[in-house]
Amino acid sequence: MPNPTWTGAVAAHARGGSAAFGGWLRTPSGVLVWRSAERVGDMTLRQAVDRGISALIRVGLAHKTSAPRVTTWPELPLRSGKLVLTLEEDAAAAALAESVLPAPPQFEAAGLEMLEPGHYVAHGSKDYQVWTELGICSCPAFTYGSRPCKHLKAALEAERLVG
Ligand SMILES: [Zn+2]
Repeated sequence: MPNPTWTGAVAAHARGGSAAFGGWLRTPSGVLVWRSAERVGDMTLRQAVDRGISALIRVGLAHKTSAPRVTTWPELPLRSGKLVLTLEEDAAAAALAESVLPAPPQFEAAGLEMLEPGHYVAHGSKDYQVWTELGICSCPAFTYGSRPCKHLKAALEAERLVG
């Protein structure tokens, strides 16, 4: 099995003065060997991602004898194979990071404007579009894996209350 590829992802989120990373690592055969989320306090997202990468690499090092040794990426000390690492955009890693942060603020239903049934504008410091039947929102939190976001939750709750 030449050039086995390990896959992993690390993402960071921050809220309320605290950052957190989430990440996972799979062997070339797809076995999940690491899945973690940790609050790291007052750090930048970049620092939190670096902390997550360090944790991932420690796990990779611990497994280095269990797979063929292929040094395709010498500067990364995961010598049991090539590592494909996804940063920031991985939804599972982002959800892990999100899971250890304090609950996001609620979005006030009064900020919702219904354009047509199932389609809203959530008015705030920025305006976002919410489609409840599709279950999507145009905000960054939703885009980067925090689903449902506070806007979608508020719109779904408003519809539930109406009937
Ligand atoms: Zn949203």
